[in-house]
Amino acid sequence: MVANLLKCQAFVLSTQDLGESDRLVTLFTRTNGRITAIAKGAKRSRRRFVNVLEPCTLIQASIALPRTTGLSRLDSATIEESYPAIRTDFKEYLYACLSCELVSLWTREGSADEGIFDIFKWYLTGLSEGTDPKRRTLFFKTRLLTLVGYAPDFEACIRCKEALEGPIQFSVSEGGFICKACLGGKDLIASKMVHAGVVGSLRFIQKADPARLPRLNLTRSTMNQAWEIIKRIHCHHLQMMPASYKVLSSI
Ligand SMILES: [Zn+2]
Repeated sequence: MVANLLKCQAFVLSTQDLGESDRLVTLFTRTNGRITAIAKGAKRSRRRFVNVLEPCTLIQASIALPRTTGLSRLDSATIEESYPAIRTDFKEYLYACLSCELVSLWTREGSADEGIFDIFKWYLTGLSEGTDPKRRTLFFKTRLLTLVGYAPDFEACIRCKEALEGPIQFSVSEGGFICKACLGGKDLIASKMVHAGVVGSLRFIQKADPARLPRLNLTRSTMNQAWEIIKRIHCHHLQMMPASYKVLSSI
């Protein structure tokens, strides 16, 4: 028994086959957060959902929500934006799939988060316009971490709360950066030191108006270190390694 029909914008995050003829679709909606819905007949006959059920597609969806528990049903969908350029570059597509997976892992059913919806839309739009995919994905996953409330303090030492400057280290278990004074001699391991520009860059990525982010000057080594730190925080709090990270590291 279906309680009500929801018509809204939604991103397709992932799909999988369900039985002989159906597909299970994970959507991220503007109004109701993440929704897992069954698309009846989508596997057997693609006519009803032509090109609609592709990850990283923005659709206008008509979803029948269940009265109590059980699966929602995707009744119909039309494409609003398919970001075709993302699909022409395999690596770019993998970065986009990582971001879809992170949205899926961090969001909940029935809990709207327009901040995440808007930054995800900003991310996919920029990606399809040809910006460096790794750089754009770093921006996105840092903002996502901030929106879900798990970003570390990029301004102060986690132990003494003094401003971060000079050589510092990142501790995922303590959930933040540690200053040189707090580290002490024996913990001061050169290979674990964080480049000076990393914390400042992450601070800027976290707080700047998205329109100003393209202006950020990032060297490759700063970006790679920032990428690894944000990846470690995501994996630590999710208590798993998102599958897309493994795919990305294999190419
Ligand atoms: Zn300190």
